Amino acid sequence: MADASAECNIKVLCRFRPLNQSEIIRGDKFIPLFQGDDTVSIAGKSYVFDRVFPTNTTQEQVYNTCAKQIVKDVLGGYNGTIFAYGQTSSGKTHTMEGKLHDPHGMGIIPRIAEDIFNHIFAMDENLEFHIKGNHDISPLLPLSLSVTKTNLAVHEDKNRVPYVKGCTERFVSSPEEVMDIIDEGKANRHVAVTNMNEHSSRSHSIFLINIKQEHVETEQKLCGKLYLVDLAGSEKVSKTGAEGAVLDEAKNINKSLSSLGNVISALAEGTKTHVPYRDSKMTRILQDSLGGNCRTTMFICCSPSSYNDQETKSTLMFGQRAK
Ligand code: ADP
Ligand code: MG
Repeated sequence: MADASAECNIKVLCRFRPLNQSEIIRGDKFIPLFQGDDTVSIAGKSYVFDRVFPTNTTQEQVYNTCAKQIVKDVLGGYNGTIFAYGQTSSGKTHTMEGKLHDPHGMGIIPRIAEDIFNHIFAMDENLEFHIKGNHDISPLLPLSLSVTKTNLAVHEDKNRVPYVKGCTERFVSSPEEVMDIIDEGKANRHVAVTNMNEHSSRSHSIFLINIKQEHVETEQKLCGKLYLVDLAGSEKVSKTGAEGAVLDEAKNINKSLSSLGNVISALAEGTKTHVPYRDSKMTRILQDSLGGNCRTTMFICCSPSSYNDQETKSTLMFGQRAK
C-alpha cells in the first residue's frame, strides 16, 4: 500500500464549469486557457494547482483523481476535509453533491458514501477469511453521520474540543441512507434570494462522516472523520445587491471565508507555529480535520465566462494562497 503520509496533505484542485445558456446568449467569452493538467491561464496570467479540471471533466474523473484515496485514508484512521470554494453558480454543489441518484451525475459525497460501504463489505469478507470458524471476532463498524444546519452554535467540551450543538447525527447502514440525510440537509438549508442567483445559498453546508471501527475481541479502536464542505458563495457583496440582514450575513460569510484562507495558507507554509483556527466558527469546527496529519482537499470552482473574470481571478488567487 502506498504511504499516504508521504504525500503533501493539502491538495488544491481547480475546476471550471462550462458556459451556461444565458452566458452564451449574452455573448460572454470563454476565458480560461488550459495548459497541461495543472495550469490554467486567464488574460495571460498563469495559475498552477495540483490539478486543473477543464470544463468537460466528468464527475467520475474528479472523484477518482481526488477523493477516492481520502476514503481509504479515513477508513485507515485519518481525518480529512474536502471543500469547495467559489462564487455562486461556479459549480461547488455540482462538485460536492451533483445529481444525487444519477450514476453519472453524482458528485463527491454520494460517491464517497458508496465507496465507504464497498470498502466495508470488502473488509468484512477479509476478516471472515482470517477468523474462519470464530463468529465472535466480527468487527463492529457503525457509521455515524452528522449534518449541520446553519447558524448552529459552536461549543467546546471539557477538553476544549469544539462541537456543534443541535446538529442531527444518525447511524447509517447504506449509501441510500446517506443520500436521505443529504436530501434532508438541503431542505433545511437556509437560502436567501439575491440578484446573483435565485437559489444562491448564503450559508456553508457542512457534512460530516464519522467512521468508528472497533474490534470486538481486542477492543482495538480506529476512528476517522471526514468533513465535506460546500462553502457559501465567495462573490463580493456589491455584485449581489444584498441589503440589511442579507448583507450582514454576507459579511459574516466573507469573514469566515477569509479566516479559512488564512488557516489554509498558514498550514501550507508549514513553518508557522500559529494557525489562526480560532478566528471563525468554521475553522474551529474543522480544526482537527485540517492540516497536520489530516487529508485536506480544496476545490477551487470557477466560471469560464468573461462576465465573471474578476471573481474568477480572486477565486484563483484564493487557491494560490494554499500552495
Ligand atoms: P454553486 O453551488 O457554486 O452555486 P452549482 O453547482 O449549483 O453552483 O452550479 C451552477 C449550475 O451550473 C448548475 O446548474 C450546475 O448543474 C451547472 N454546473 C456546474 N458545474 C458544472 C460542470 N462541471 N458541468 C456541467 N454543469 C455544471
Ligand atoms: Mg451551491
